[in-house]
Amino acid sequence: MERVYNFSAGPSVIAESVLKKAQAELVCYGDTGMSVMEMSHRSAAYQAIIDETEALLRQLLGIPEDYSVLFLQGGASTQFAMIPLNLANGSGAIDLVLTGQWATKAFQEASKYCSVNVVGSSKDKTFSYIPKLDPAAFNKDADYFYICSNNTIYGTRFAKLPEVGNVPLVADMSSCILSERINVRDYGLIFAGAQKNMGPAGLTVVIVRKDLIGKARPETPTMLNYKTHDDNGSMFNTPPTFAIYICKLVLEWLRDEIGGIDAMEKINHEKAAIFYDYLDSSKLFKATVQGEDRSYMNIPFVTGDEELDKAFVKAAAAKGFVNLKGHRSVGGMRASIYNAMPVEGIEKLVAFMKEFEAAR
Ligand SMILES: *Cc1c(COP(=O)(O)O)cnc(C)c1O
Repeated sequence: MERVYNFSAGPSVIAESVLKKAQAELVCYGDTGMSVMEMSHRSAAYQAIIDETEALLRQLLGIPEDYSVLFLQGGASTQFAMIPLNLANGSGAIDLVLTGQWATKAFQEASKYCSVNVVGSSKDKTFSYIPKLDPAAFNKDADYFYICSNNTIYGTRFAKLPEVGNVPLVADMSSCILSERINVRDYGLIFAGAQKNMGPAGLTVVIVRKDLIGKARPETPTMLNYKTHDDNGSMFNTPPTFAIYICKLVLEWLRDEIGGIDAMEKINHEKAAIFYDYLDSSKLFKATVQGEDRSYMNIPFVTGDEELDKAFVKAAAAKGFVNLKGHRSVGGMRASIYNAMPVEGIEKLVAFMKEFEAAR
């Protein structure tokens, strides 16, 4: 069977060349005579893999020396507890912007451990925009300020960061990490589940400023303490070895085939522009998000007629454009166009949408 264009929100498309490389190395990795899956995480061969993965990530994102990179498990969702347990240790109060379901889950989990001040919300309009924030409402003594950088379900993104001053900014970048240039120094902590832009599920990457480590609440479970993982090079216990290896291949692809973050950002902007331009000109399809809040990674759109939406999703799948059904809370369709979705995939999808529109 031929490969399809996979618009899944996650786990999501991985570049074919990465999969082929993994296939070629699957049974025997280098001169080890074994698969990466079979390797001891304490072996020199595996140490080289995890070291190289970290070095690549540092190089691509420009991660300064005073930030640690941790390779963890438990998904992005475990961070919803891990972050307050480790960071909400001063005033016991944090600020948070409610921009969707993931931010809501982070809010609910953090509320178990600290007092959460919601400084903005877009819940009134199904999270279809990023709320305007008033820095006067921010708590200067907050232990951290929490945002979800790109809202996977609703297709919004923070185009501008909140002015948090000296309060550490914590960002869930699960669905946008490595998609554009960021300044790591703007953040105290960045985290991402790998399954959108970094590789397969099972790996969560945390990038955290070193001075924020080592102050966890006493009741923090050992495995949920950043210090445990930082002190042990992410090898306190067995890390998700194979997922880290695939992440390395993805990072190599990003560096060597794409040309790095700036080149990736340019391609992502081009892809999103093709899609939004069509949606804005279409008489049938309409984007659910307007203006600068529009995500470059997840694009929800509707026809306004549920039956027609269903018919479109079905017709598209028959042509090899799969996983376009929207999230149940927004309805309609959603195209997730992560790093590994080529420009050609967008061009072909838009051509198909034009045909679908013309046939009506
Ligand atoms: C997918 C996603 C999550 C959840 O990730 P898990 O690894 O499944 O826990 C959290 N936040 C955002 C922004 C996501 O896109």
